[in-house]
Order: sequence, then structure tokens, then C-alpha cells
Amino acid sequence: MTTAAIIVAAGRGIRAGGGVPKQWRSLAGRRVADWTLDRLRGAVDHVVLVLSEDDRAPWDEFRKSDLILAPGGADRAGSVRNGLQALTGLGVEKVLIHDVARPCVSARIIKDVIEALNTHQAAAPGLAVTDALWVGSEDTVKGVQDRSSLFAAQTPQGFHYDAIVAAHAAHSGGAADDVEVARAAGLDVHIVPGDADNLKITRPEDFARAERILGTEMDVRLGNGYDVHRFGDGDHVILCGIKIPHSRGLQGHSDADVGMHAVTDAIYGALAQGDIGQHFPPSDPQWKGAASEIFLRHAVALASDMGYAISNVDCTLVCEFPKIGPHALTMREEMSKIMGLRADQVSVKATTSERLGFTGRSEGIAALATACLVKS
Ligand code: MG
Repeated sequence: MTTAAIIVAAGRGIRAGGGVPKQWRSLAGRRVADWTLDRLRGAVDHVVLVLSEDDRAPWDEFRKSDLILAPGGADRAGSVRNGLQALTGLGVEKVLIHDVARPCVSARIIKDVIEALNTHQAAAPGLAVTDALWVGSEDTVKGVQDRSSLFAAQTPQGFHYDAIVAAHAAHSGGAADDVEVARAAGLDVHIVPGDADNLKITRPEDFARAERILGTEMDVRLGNGYDVHRFGDGDHVILCGIKIPHSRGLQGHSDADVGMHAVTDAIYGALAQGDIGQHFPPSDPQWKGAASEIFLRHAVALASDMGYAISNVDCTLVCEFPKIGPHALTMREEMSKIMGLRADQVSVKATTSERLGFTGRSEGIAALATACLVKS
């Protein structure tokens, strides 16, 4: 089933201010149109962008892209008709028609509209009106309006392609949207749940609201870390920042804190910023015997510089001895202090490997860690 979307971007958008049509104004670091295009691009097979003949730069820019371009018409309906015509011969069965000024439309709404077209000729998101409605004149309430059957219309509005082409051809003009055109042609329009965040940028203050919506979308990153250090001579080990008396020590270029190294690498991993060895080469003598908290502090600072907050870390130490349990809480407290986190954001636990393998034969200690970072 071939699906397409038409994004109507030929309007002049003067009410939103800013001196250029609103679809070309910046919103959270990108143009409004770029946000909107990304929302639809991944969801359908073809995207038509309807552009005003006056917007020469976007014509030149998008001509090199995967988009199908169509010229704006004398009014919105004319632009939609040009967009529909641009899809001729592509075998499109379902078409979504979307306002470029709704850049916050969710993947859920797009999917709901496309799916509803399996069983309906037309479908569109509607938001039930929850505020009481008044009828007024000037500054006086003259009456109330029953809201129980009222919906705020949103886009994308979806249609069977042939049906909406015929409906537009038969319409005499002046419709507020494509649902009105479809209904005039006798199509039943199914309502899917809209979303208050799917706002249409109309007034200057709408930009701030859209930025808040786009800016709070979750960017969550996970990373894992794994490290091993070999036992050698010594009378203590340092694990997760805690010195533990032991009949042997761990060998390594730094203080060989295998747990802290795994946590550090998990943070670098979440950031896709390599590993400890890249940031602190073992060949560099200045890190000989270094306290591993230097590495951990560096990874935490890098996360912060890149705009991420560490949500939690989880570290598992694999060894038969020393016993970790009695020290686990102190380790959590020590690492949380270094990372500027609460102890309940840091987990340290241990397992043996049932005397199997190098950890089971007490030849060394292994550690695994996971870190979760959230864009702040
Ligand atoms: Mg190491």
C-alpha cells in the first residue's frame, strides 16, 4: 500500500511575525519546515512539499532532496490540488495532507491516521473541546455553547487518494480544510484522537510553546563498560574507590580499580566518546599509579559538557574474593560523591563465577557496568 504526504508550505504566515513566512523561521535550532518534514518523511513513501513561487531558496535547496516539489496555488485548496497532482502515476493509495506549521505532530497521530484509512475513506485527528465555550460580543458573555460534540480540527488529514482528488475537483472553493472538501463530496471522515501538543503555529507566542514541546523530547543514551585486571603481589585492592585489605593486589598501569574503569567506560560509551585508553593512554607515564577517580571525573565532565545528565549507573564485580557485599554501600557512596550523584543513582553488586574461568580461579577480577544518560 503506497502512502504519501503533502505538506502545504506555500502560505505567507504573516500573523506569526518575524518578517519571513513562519515555516522558514527558526524553531529550537532548525526551521519549522525541517521539523515538520522529518515527522512525515519516515512514515510514508513519498513526501510532496508545496512551495510558494516566491520562496526561491527553498526551491533550489529541496530540488536536490528526496522530496517531490509542487508550486503553491492561489489559495490553500489550490496548493493541495497541485500537491495531489504531483503524485499522479505513483500508485499512491493513501495520502496525508499536513500543515507545515504543525511541527510537533507525533508519530502516534500519523500512524493512527494511516491505520484508520484501512477501514475508512478519510480520517483526521480531532481534539475534544474541554474548555467551556461562550458566545460573546465585545467584552460581554452573551451565552454559552454546548461543547459536548465539538472537536478542534488538526492535521494530518488522511484520505484515499482517488477520493480526495475527485472531491477537490468537484469543490467550488472556500473550504477551511480538506475534511470540509471531503465531506462536501459525501465522504465519511473518521476522527482519531488528536493531541494538545500538535499545535498550529499561528501567533508569535506559539513559537515558545512549540520550542518547549520539542525541547522536552527525551534523548536517552545507554552505554556499557567491561574491564579486567589481573591479580599480583600486594596486600590490598582498590575497588570502586574503596581500599580493601586482601592477600593479593590488582596489577595495572593506574590503581587498577576495575569497577571504576568499567563505570567510566560505560559513560564514555553512552556518549560514543571512545574509552579510557583513548583519553588516558597507558603509554603516557603521567597516569602511572593514577587514582582512577581522575578518569571517572573526566567522563562525568564530558557528559555534562555534551549536555547530558547521568541518570544512573550499575556496576557488577565478578570475583570469588575479596567479598564485596560488606563494602558495596561504601563503594556506592564513594562513586556517587565523585560523580555528583545521589547514592541511590549508583548500584554496585557482585557475583562469583562458580569457580569457573579466570575469575573463578582467582586470577583476576572482572567488572561490567551500564550507564544511563539523559539530555538535560
Ligand atoms: Mg582498567
